[in-house]
Order: sequence, then C-alpha cells, then structure tokens
Amino acid sequence: MAIKTSFRPIARGMLRPTRASAASRYTSSNLTFLHIRLASSAALAKKLNIGGREVTVPTGLFIGNEFRPAIGGNTFAVENPATGEEIVQVAEAREEDVNVAVTEARRAFEDKAWADVNPVERGELLLRLAQLMERDKEDLIALEMLDTGKTYRQASNLDFPGSVGTLKYYAGWADKLVGLTSFNIPGAFAYTRREPLGVCGQIIPWNFPLLMFTWKIAPAVVTGNTVVIKSAEATPLSALKMCELIKEAGFPAGTVNLLSGFGKTAGNALASHMDVDKVAFTGSTATGRAILKASAASNLKKVTLELGGKSPNIIFADADLDKAAEWSAWGINMNFGQTCHAGTRLYVHEDVYDAFLEKFTARMAALKVGDNFDRSVDQGPVNSKMQYDKILGYIESGRQEGATVHLGGSAAEASTKAGGKGYYVEPTIFTNVKPDMTISREEIFGPVVTVTKFKTEEEVIELANDTTYGLAGAVHTKDYARAVRMTNAIKAGTTWVNMYNLVHWSIPFGGYKQSGLGRECGEAVLENYTEVKAVYLNTGMAAPQ
Ligand code: ADP
Repeated sequence: MAIKTSFRPIARGMLRPTRASAASRYTSSNLTFLHIRLASSAALAKKLNIGGREVTVPTGLFIGNEFRPAIGGNTFAVENPATGEEIVQVAEAREEDVNVAVTEARRAFEDKAWADVNPVERGELLLRLAQLMERDKEDLIALEMLDTGKTYRQASNLDFPGSVGTLKYYAGWADKLVGLTSFNIPGAFAYTRREPLGVCGQIIPWNFPLLMFTWKIAPAVVTGNTVVIKSAEATPLSALKMCELIKEAGFPAGTVNLLSGFGKTAGNALASHMDVDKVAFTGSTATGRAILKASAASNLKKVTLELGGKSPNIIFADADLDKAAEWSAWGINMNFGQTCHAGTRLYVHEDVYDAFLEKFTARMAALKVGDNFDRSVDQGPVNSKMQYDKILGYIESGRQEGATVHLGGSAAEASTKAGGKGYYVEPTIFTNVKPDMTISREEIFGPVVTVTKFKTEEEVIELANDTTYGLAGAVHTKDYARAVRMTNAIKAGTTWVNMYNLVHWSIPFGGYKQSGLGRECGEAVLENYTEVKAVYLNTGMAAPQ
C-alpha cells in the first residue's frame, strides 16, 4: 500500500514542504503498523537516471532500520542545482517524527544491545559499512554530484575517500578507548571509564553531505551511542542511500536514524528535545547560536558546534609564488568556495603583490565553469538558488562599498546557457578591499576572494586576526621560523604552511572564537561522545570521624 502524497510543483529555488492527505487519516496508535507495511512501498524509493547510471534512492525517513513516510505525510522537493529542476520528493520530518526517531534511538540505546556489545563488533560494522560504500562508490558519487553540483573530481578524490577513511579510522578506535588508573591516593584506588552519552542528535549542512554524515555518525556509534541525524534540506540524498547500506551492514535497528527535513522544524525539535543527550552541529554561526540557546532552554544537552569561517591566507615575499598561487586558487576553488575553511582573505606582501596577483588571477581565470557532469569542468553550480543569490548579493555589496572587481563578478555564462536556470557564479577576485567592508567580514561561501597588500609581519597578523571567526588560516613562506611564528599567531583551529585546505579525519578540526565549540575528527571528537566516570575503590581507608 502506498500513501498518496499531494504536492504542488515548486518554484525554482524554493524548497517548499507540501502536505499529503492520506496519511493523516491514521492515528498515532496505528502508525507503527502502518509504517512497517509502508516500508516496502515503492513510493518510498525512486529510481533516478544520473548521467546514464540508474541509481535507486530511498525517500522515506529512516527510523528503526525502516524507511517510513512522515507521520503527517509531508514531503519536499530536492532540486538539481545544475538545472533548478526537481529531482525527487522526499519525506519531510516534523516534530512528531523527531519524537518517534528519538524514542527509537532511546530504545536502541537502553536495551544495551549496542552500548554493551563487544566494541570490536561496533568497529566491524563500521568497516562493513565502509566496504559497502566502496562497492556502491559510483552510485554514491553520482547522487552526491546530482544533489550538490559537485564535480566528479571533487566527489571522487575528496568527499568519497574522506568518508570511507573516516569510517575505517573510527572502526579502529572501537577497542582503544581507555581511562586512567590512579594509585596516588592512600587507602583508595581510582579508575575512570568512558561511557557513551546516550542519544545523539546530529545536524549537518549541505556542502559536504556524505562526508559530514560519516564525520558525525562514526565517532558517535563506535563509542556506543545511538544517533538521530538530520541531513540538510538542500541535500538529503546521499545520507538516504547510506541508510540503505547501514541496514545491509547489519547495524541493530535504531542505532542510526535519519530524518530529512528543515532546520526550523525538525532541526529545532532535535536541538530542543528533552530526551536527546547531545547535539553535534555543523553549519552557520547564526544557527549554531540558535542550537546553543535550544540546549540551554531544554535539558542542557551537550553541544558541539562546527561553524563558519573567514580564513586568512598569507603570502610572504620569499614564498614560491607559483606554488602559492596554485594552493591559493585551490584554497578558494575547492568545492567552489562552499567550504567553511575556504581561504577567502588573501594577504600578499607588497614586494610580490603584482607578481603573485598575476599568477593567481591566471589560475582563477583558467577555471572552467559549467555542467558538473562534464569531467573537464573545474567548477559546477553552487548548491542552491538561495546560495547563488547570496553570493551575487555579496559581490554587489563589494562593488557598492568601493572594492574593485579584478576578475569575474557575475553569474557565469553557464547559467545563461542553462536557460537562466542553474546556479553558476564566476570565480571572483576583489582588490582594493578595506577591512571593514562586508566582503572582508562576512562568510560568502562561494568562489569569491579578496586580495590585500601588506608590509610587515605584525601588520598581517593583526589583519588576519581581525575577524570574529577562527576556523583556519595559512602562510606561504620558505622561512620555517616565520612559518612557526605565524601559525602560532593566527587564532584559528587549523593552520597550514605552504598549502591549503588539507583536512584529514585523523587530525582534530574545529574553531576558535565564533567558529565553534569542540573538535571534530581525530581522537579529540571521542571526548565529545563519551562521559568520563570516576570510580573510587576503598583499599583500606577509614571513614573520617
Ligand atoms: P546554511 O546557512 O549554510 O544553510 P544552516 O546553519 O542554516 O547553514 O544549516 C545547516 C543545518 O542546520 C541544516 O541541516 C539546517 O536544516 C539546520 N538548521 C537550520 N536552522 C536550524 C535551527 N534553528 N535549529 C536546528 N537546525 C537548524
């Protein structure tokens, strides 16, 4: 039996929830039964033809290892950023669905089948999931490209191996979490245990949907937690495909639950839920603030935030200018600037400013913008109409505030070719930029970079740190003493020397200042998914009188 959904065609660029009527006939008491029967329904999966490749994507909410429609029957449209056209409708979680998913995750956590399982088995499940990803690599890449606008190179050389690597890395942590033992207290012996937190709410953004899914679930489940994860409304597809693989890998029902849905409804319900023990969020600083407030106003759930950035990228006169130009172009072009650690503020020593700018401009100008399924293309569409308008709006503000458009500065020709549809932006360089301009201060999240001249190390340190963000920064120089001084001075969670944008799953990643709370990746994130319990044993201590 299939629930009939009624949805209207959407205007280009709008993700508009629609409401179905059939499901609302059912009361909550018979919903579980209804969900189980519906799970096999063809209405909860859609076969897509992606560049000649047939890929079936589930469209339901993934709760208790089953794909289900939303309780209210709501769905929303997922859009292809290359054309502005609808790809598929997926179930839209609202508060009542969040409640069901949390209940299921709680049940899975409390029945101890997961937290008390031999940790090695949890690691093995993550490894099995990684192997299934490798089997279905091309399907996952195709879905990710279709949903986000990424090029094949971006999706296959970075996002995919990063995702598989993350699963394998955390699989290896399964039996390596240990505590401390202390014999330093006369008459007592103490040790610590690392215990899972419980139900973890996880909210991810649209720029790296597959990678963020693995960054979030792997450390949570390997430490014995259960998860309710919400994908970004603009890019739910690869996470849905991953849930098919999670079930096939054999994860116990309820360990990982996935909700597609919107931030203000599903996201807020998760962040405000009284039975969620932690929320891990990646996204904008404004939303991070809302999540922290939601935690404070509900049950003080633990919160980790990976937020925005406005990262400085500094070129000294002694740098290898060809390499610096190459890395700096990569610093802004990776994922077309839709990266929180993008190198958006370039500072170049006055002695090499002209020479560097020429080389850098040549690289940026050579980037081919167009259909992301064309393998010769370097930059596809940005992710959504909203993002496209926002980036073009920032470019306009730069012009109006008096900066010079040195390269680009408009919608790319590919947009016109796609009949005005598709969200293509020219790689854009601004010069004559002042520190107080909007383009110097706010996160643009697109292929837009500012270039500023500096004279001294002290001056550039001040400029680099003149931001409310602190996610990343880079320095290009052959002088390693200066490299060390500079990386020490930059107030950011990640710094690079003579390179840009390398983020490895085994190394902690996160922000200073308003770029976040806590760390993702590496051993560091495991702290955020475990409580430390101290246990004292009396080995001869008398009760104090
Ligand atoms: P961006 O501005 O880059 O789209 P957001 O921070 O708005 O980034 O979105 C990142 C994620 O946060 C998405 O999954 C989105 O649905 C979710 N989100 C947005 N607003 C809220 C909110 N008020 N509470 C919880 N989650 C939210």
